Amino acid sequence: MEPARPFHDPRMRGFRSRTSVEAVLALIDRRVGRLSLESIDPRSAAGRVMASEVVAEAPVPAFDRAAMDGYAVRGEETLGADSYSPIPFTIVGRVRPGAVSTIRVGPGEAAEIATGAPLPAGADTVVRVEATEVDGRIVRVSEPTPPGRHVGREGEDIARGAVVLSAGRVLRPQDLGLLSSIGLDRVEVVRRPVVAIIVTGDELQPAGIRPDGSRIADANSPMLAALACRDGGIPAVIGPLPDDREAIRSAIVDAARSADVLLISGGSSTGPEDHAPGLIAELGELAVHGVAIRPASPAGLGFLGPIPVVLLPGNPVSCLCAYDFFAGPIVRRLGGRPPGWPYRPRVLPLARKLASVVGRVDYARVSVVDGRVEPLAISGASILSSTTRADGFVVIPADLEGHPEGASVTVWHYDQDG
Ligand code: AMP
Ligand code: MG
Repeated sequence: MEPARPFHDPRMRGFRSRTSVEAVLALIDRRVGRLSLESIDPRSAAGRVMASEVVAEAPVPAFDRAAMDGYAVRGEETLGADSYSPIPFTIVGRVRPGAVSTIRVGPGEAAEIATGAPLPAGADTVVRVEATEVDGRIVRVSEPTPPGRHVGREGEDIARGAVVLSAGRVLRPQDLGLLSSIGLDRVEVVRRPVVAIIVTGDELQPAGIRPDGSRIADANSPMLAALACRDGGIPAVIGPLPDDREAIRSAIVDAARSADVLLISGGSSTGPEDHAPGLIAELGELAVHGVAIRPASPAGLGFLGPIPVVLLPGNPVSCLCAYDFFAGPIVRRLGGRPPGWPYRPRVLPLARKLASVVGRVDYARVSVVDGRVEPLAISGASILSSTTRADGFVVIPADLEGHPEGASVTVWHYDQDG
């Protein structure tokens, strides 16, 4: 791993060297941990990350219950029954789901019971209603039903003391059902990271306004906000701000008061209007500036106290690439999620050669046509539509000159299905 280099103002000097992707990821690994916990109502916990395991304090179900509509009896008394010689029982009452029953089923007796109702004392099985015929207070059973048949046992779903969900679980809708079934009214989850997205650039118009003259619309904040949401964060967009050192400084200082991570889009490189790297160095620590990755080489990583700051190049494709490689893992780690890509990997053959340069990682947008991987011809960092036309991307490691036609490569699909 490369040591972090001391920071000098790099403006107009270019990058002297670039940190390897591996070294940046190792730094994130070392320096970024899970946020604190909060205790919330399980009903609003879908998609949240469990901070601690949940143990069932009571069994589910908490009582033996009927799994069928029918008659609760003593099972051994039904043995030998068939439709030619049904066995008669005296009906002593009826048990409904949700009601406490005082009925006691004695020898030769049966209680009418509905699915979900507690098995009455004395009974040990439920004869299906289809295997019975009622005649006044007598029910005739035509099917042998051994003890325990059609009975849901206490604790058969969840035993008392069982770990029902472990820490780190991203809660699914059915998990909320389960938390409710064990009677929990609070659940401890990891706090959602607040992701400040500071967008900079003199040329930018706010998203949602048709660009005019020589200005362009901010494409990065909608994209970054959606990425942060997807990764469990709460985005807070600030800007677009002009390339004004003081304006950007006060936005950074402000954001650092309430956010858990700062993403700064634009002005991350070494030009005269690129203020972010110098500001982070001045206000905190600029640990990385310039990464050996295309198309996100002007990316950076720093810290303001414990708060990570990711410098994202303004070019939308570079911005996406830098989010995918550096910001995404940080947001997910903060929120207690697995840091790996939430993209679906699939190994497929290359339809054409995929070229790269030794010494840097390449983030190559590709489409998948008839099960073969087609590198997208237009791959400039400013061509955002290359990411919307792409099905996903292939990562070419730094030590490879690319992949030949026919080679098997892993495509990371932007969509989970399809
Ligand atoms: P910068 O990283 O500030 O040097 O910007 C690099 C390129 O990306 C320039 O052409 C900018 O106009 C463009 N750019 C910067 N920020 C954005 C943004 N938020 N949305 C779209 N394009 C941007
Ligand atoms: Mg700029």
